Amino acid sequence: MSAPDSIALTKALLAFDTINPPGRERDCARYAGGLLQEWGFKVDYFEFADGRTSVVARAGGNDAGAPLCFTGHLDIVPLGTRKWTRDPFRGETDGDRLFGRGTSDMKAGIAAILMAARSFSKKLSGTPGIVLVLTAAEEGGCIGSQHLARTQLLGKAGAMVVGEPTSNYPYAGHKGSLKFYARFRGVSAHGSLPHLGVNAVYKAAHAVTKLEGFSFEGKKHPIMGEPTMNVGTFEGGQGVNMVPDEATIGVDIRTVAGMDHAALLQRLKSALGSEAELEVFSDMNAVWTEPQDEWVQRVFEIAGRHLGARPEPKAQTYNTDAGNLLRVYKGAPTVILGPGEAAQAHQTDEYASMERIRQSVAIYEDLIADWCR
Ligand SMILES: [Zn+2]
Repeated sequence: MSAPDSIALTKALLAFDTINPPGRERDCARYAGGLLQEWGFKVDYFEFADGRTSVVARAGGNDAGAPLCFTGHLDIVPLGTRKWTRDPFRGETDGDRLFGRGTSDMKAGIAAILMAARSFSKKLSGTPGIVLVLTAAEEGGCIGSQHLARTQLLGKAGAMVVGEPTSNYPYAGHKGSLKFYARFRGVSAHGSLPHLGVNAVYKAAHAVTKLEGFSFEGKKHPIMGEPTMNVGTFEGGQGVNMVPDEATIGVDIRTVAGMDHAALLQRLKSALGSEAELEVFSDMNAVWTEPQDEWVQRVFEIAGRHLGARPEPKAQTYNTDAGNLLRVYKGAPTVILGPGEAAQAHQTDEYASMERIRQSVAIYEDLIADWCR
């Protein structure tokens, strides 16, 4: 394989249909891993299920320091119900815009990580080196990184760059998430004799009202702001002429750094009452590195040179794999910095700026040079 430029490589990655569900990251993962292997990286693959492939690649490494980690996800979200005016997989361009599902979120970021890695592949021996973690199944729950964190493949990392879309602005963290279903049970009866049954929809409705009034007790983070809650789904009943014997609500809470999820869950349980059966399906802590951290200051300086102004500490609202990876890379300062446009993520006719893609390669290269001096 010849060495493509960052735009051609983004297009090559776009051509792999990694829509999740179902995912099918294997071919894309093998393609990226193949390039890295060709460039001299030691490449490992991990599949948490058939075809759901993550890549861990490393180069360099010494006893003096842990490597710098770059991470991103290979899967993309479905195309949505609205019709696209651009081909989602062929990398159409218009001016500076490169269109396609997963351009901004985040195959452009993957391409930039790969290109920067290639620039240094032969120059990292005797330095702390770099480790690339390209994950499957980030969308909808960060399942790939959750599994990866249980393997021995991740090794160590001294700091982490998450290439999710930020228009190359370095963010010092992002909110956490606690997502759960609360199920309520009742007793079915004929719709004309409701007094003979117990209505589970009423129970769920009361629970929603309680959640609407739920207080986070003034929890606030100086940069992330306040935690939020959204009741996103409400399901119950099988027919209008029946007393529903089951109802379920789906709840999405976004937490800020410093919040204890276990304690929060206890408070939610007591608010919802003992009849609520809770099923937590996503529990990821917020990610936050104090902007005064020495490495974060270096990132601000390096990114600031490229962006034309020194960044201010900011946090993203969306979740990333970082929450899971930090279970292994404990205490590693982390920034979210990638070429995609956050506002384009999950949109119809999603695009990325080609200028931003090239810029992110340059920023990543400077970050590697700085880490591996
Ligand atoms: Zn993403």
